[in-house]
Amino acid sequence: MSITGIKGMNDILPGDIETWQHLEEQARKVFGAFGYREIRVPVAEKTELFCRSIGETTDIVEKEMYTFTDKGGTSMTLRPEGTAPVMRAFIQHKLHALDPISKLYYIGPMFRHERPQKGRYRQFHQIGAEVIGIDDPKIDAQVLAMLSHYFMTTKIPDVSLQINSLGCPGCRPTYREALIDFLEQRLSCLCADCQRRYTSNPLRVLDCKVPGCKEVTIDAPAMLDNLCIGCEAHFTQVKNHLDALEVDYTVNPRMVRGLDYYTRTTFEMVTGSLGAQNAVAAGGRYDGLIRDLGGPELPGIGFAIGLERLALMLGEQSVLPPRPELFIATLGEAATNAGFSMLTRLQRRGIPVEMEYTGKSLKAQLRRADKIKAKRVLIIGEDELQRGMSQLRYMDESRQEEVELDSLESLLSKEIDGA
Ligand code: ATP
Ligand code: MG
Repeated sequence: MSITGIKGMNDILPGDIETWQHLEEQARKVFGAFGYREIRVPVAEKTELFCRSIGETTDIVEKEMYTFTDKGGTSMTLRPEGTAPVMRAFIQHKLHALDPISKLYYIGPMFRHERPQKGRYRQFHQIGAEVIGIDDPKIDAQVLAMLSHYFMTTKIPDVSLQINSLGCPGCRPTYREALIDFLEQRLSCLCADCQRRYTSNPLRVLDCKVPGCKEVTIDAPAMLDNLCIGCEAHFTQVKNHLDALEVDYTVNPRMVRGLDYYTRTTFEMVTGSLGAQNAVAAGGRYDGLIRDLGGPELPGIGFAIGLERLALMLGEQSVLPPRPELFIATLGEAATNAGFSMLTRLQRRGIPVEMEYTGKSLKAQLRRADKIKAKRVLIIGEDELQRGMSQLRYMDESRQEEVELDSLESLLSKEIDGA
């Protein structure tokens, strides 16, 4: 029996990859314009990093991590998200000493042991961005403006931005107690998971997808009504700046995030078109995280976009594959050899060119040119070769010209660069 891939870990094949490349290129372009630079960190980290940052009682750490002991006895985990590794690298390399403000982005695979289904996989990909060193609400608004702009330029349909504030270590404990009190009185209506975690992580109950839990918590106290003066003012300013930047959003007081490190502004981009997997991007402020990981006292904010869900929304093969500029068709061995040299010469110049390698009939060669949608076909016959000539056929215009083989390179370069 042949070997297949691992469940929940997908191949991205030619035909679909163009959509992915489009999403990645657009991210580089948009994030670049907003002043972000790429950072690449390993796919595996010491397990402790994720336990300490994401939180021991979160779904990710409790249930979803790919953790194993390597041959040297170190407990390693395949990264379930990007923020903790990026902060680890930031602290380790003292990036704050180079520049008090860091704007970083990453693109790459993440790993979570979840039940695979549409829009939920075990290896999935995120594009994420982080700003370290600024707690001004203007940066919260700008991060959201950039995220919204990215969704606009990639032409992702039907997404909306929801925002909330999760308060700070000053105001959240009081709210947490009030929420625990509320849940305690309704314990029998909660699912088994929530009954277990309502004291250790009561905010997670608000995010539970079980219908019973959703219903019980409709009237639960909201963090937004319990913010301290500082958090309240911060949130108001974020909203004011979003209005000024004309970024559409709705306030969702029930939105909590599944990672413990968030403070103040949190947000999600949601869609109506992916069923239960409705979050396409999510993030928030994490002002205590860098200090908790042993770094300096610096604020941070960031988000991660789920690429599989975006690709699903754009639809398969939504971005057309590139078309070869030229297909070289030949008749006879001498012409084939001349064509093969020409092929390599043009490819070295950076011009996408194809030919048939195995001496097929002219008809079969033209069929292949058609199949791969070559823009032009160059036909070199024996007699023509002796005269140094060839026929150049423009496939979209059904027109054909006789051209000198020697001038083909410059002719093509001119046509392609001038296009
Ligand atoms: P969900 O509620 O759908 O489980 P999440 O809150 O766990 O999402 P985050 O940790 O905030 O997700 O990750 C940010 C984004 O990454 C999500 O909005 C989603 O688009 C994507 N994502 C998260 N987990 C997966 C997964 N298992 N497969 C595919 N995409 C995912
Ligand atoms: Mg999840």
